[in-house]
Amino acid sequence: MSEEKLSFQAEVSRLLDIVAHSLYSEKEVFLRELISNASDACDKLRYASLTQPDLTAGDANFRITLTPDTAARTLTIADNGIGMNREELVENLGTIARSGTANFMAALSQKAEAEKAGEKDLSLIGQFGVGFYSAFMVAGEVEVFSRKAGDSQGWRWASDGKGSFTVGESDDAPARGSRIVLHLRDGEDDYLQTYRLQSIVKKYSDHISIPVLVGDDEKPANAASALWTRSKSDITAEQYKEFYHHVSHAFDEPWLTLHWRAEGVLEYTNLLFIPESKPFDLFEPERKHRVKLYVRRVFITEGPEGLIPAYLRFLRGVVDSEDLPLNVSREMLQHNPMLAKMRTGIAKRVLGDLARKADDADAKADYARFWENFGAVLKEGLYEEREQRDTLLKLLRAYSTHGDELVSLEDYVGRMKPGQDAIYYITGEDKAALARSPHLEGFRAKGVEVLFLTDAVDEFWLQSVTQYKDHAFKSVTRGGADLANVTAEDKAEETPKAPEDSVADLVALAKLTLGDAVKDVRTSERLRESAVCLVADEGDMDIHLERMLKAHRR
Ligand code: ADP
Ligand code: MG
Repeated sequence: MSEEKLSFQAEVSRLLDIVAHSLYSEKEVFLRELISNASDACDKLRYASLTQPDLTAGDANFRITLTPDTAARTLTIADNGIGMNREELVENLGTIARSGTANFMAALSQKAEAEKAGEKDLSLIGQFGVGFYSAFMVAGEVEVFSRKAGDSQGWRWASDGKGSFTVGESDDAPARGSRIVLHLRDGEDDYLQTYRLQSIVKKYSDHISIPVLVGDDEKPANAASALWTRSKSDITAEQYKEFYHHVSHAFDEPWLTLHWRAEGVLEYTNLLFIPESKPFDLFEPERKHRVKLYVRRVFITEGPEGLIPAYLRFLRGVVDSEDLPLNVSREMLQHNPMLAKMRTGIAKRVLGDLARKADDADAKADYARFWENFGAVLKEGLYEEREQRDTLLKLLRAYSTHGDELVSLEDYVGRMKPGQDAIYYITGEDKAALARSPHLEGFRAKGVEVLFLTDAVDEFWLQSVTQYKDHAFKSVTRGGADLANVTAEDKAEETPKAPEDSVADLVALAKLTLGDAVKDVRTSERLRESAVCLVADEGDMDIHLERMLKAHRR
């Protein structure tokens, strides 16, 4: 039978090299990765069979089996999920397009850049997991026998993880799904022991809703019920974390775990997580979320448009609806009114929980961590979702001329000076550069706080959100932002008045000299040391926005 030899994508080879030489102590996580894939494969087939029942005819009971063979020193992980055809074997197991591994590689290169340390820090493998390729931590050779549901032809993929793999037709493939045979390296005989395998399954894969059977044992080694259907009091923090890893293909800790059931007109269960670190694809132009939609425990799709607002796209996890029809097509989902209702319910709940965190005086540093990661995303909601604007303004944090910590608008308003009625801000890319701006001189002298808004999105929400609690937002780089009505902290700080005539002469001279280059020349209270500064006129475009747009047009 014809067999073809192919090379791994260069990045995969690099990754495999790291994996093979890793001294990573918790190698056992390879099992978590392979079981996670097997479970995903069952979910996919269950969905496909909704419209093509033939695909599961003859064997509708999904399961994952682990079979150790002490004589052959192999461990086999088999599933009766969707399986892979030749192209999929080559694409999925030969390139790095997959989410989990892509996360790992992105983090690795970020870290290498930061430390200029090359590829030496292998502890990352433990943090991220490397999906299928982690099999090579314990196996010197890996065979994958697979038959895609509905296909007659089966395939065998094999590799020693050293640069190339082979793929060819096989009569040994399972009737449906995949069978992965690991030829264990010397010293890895641990993974041939049934009780050891059972305890690893319990530790990492208990939340998997498909039964995982080990050896001859007829009782699954996992609880085999979807984690989100269990009651909160029965779930440990560890189990939530493992589920988060499985569902998000990320390997950090959840910063916040939200598990609740919405009851009433619509019933749906939500198990959502906010990651503790920034996913690398957060600012891709599609602004897609990655929450998975289930209908009555059946996986439907990941990231359906309309379920989670774009400004909450950092959420990970599962939403399981009791009401949507099972045969809802992915295309029709978008226009389903139930989905819109769920979206509103989810947004309210998530923002409510965030508000509680934000209000908690003891959780300041913790909330700041969230804000540094996702504040820029959340701000998109300020102009995209009117109904949530007030809540979002309460969640907003920014650095300011007042100290080194993030401040809230409420803090800011509490510190406003007598006679001050606006909230002053300055926009730009870099906080340190903004702090040196001459536009701040007069504000500093009068003790008036100015917010530093450093995200690109700030220019956009400030166009539509004009005030907070009756206080207008005003840019210090605009003509109208003057401080004549604000009394200085200290009388000595009052701007000494220059003789009216000489100032008028100077202004006239400046106007004459600059001609059309400027719209107007005015005296201002905002400067102390500097003689002049450029400002945009009230109603004109802010200077930073103008620069941004110009840069964009180039
Ligand atoms: P990830 O799970 O993050 O996508 P993996 O490296 O774990 O990355 O897996 C790569 C891909 O290989 C999966 O996305 C899936 O398409 C495919 N795959 C792996 N194992 C199986 C399996 N048992 N059945 C079907 N497809 C699989
Ligand atoms: Mg995987």
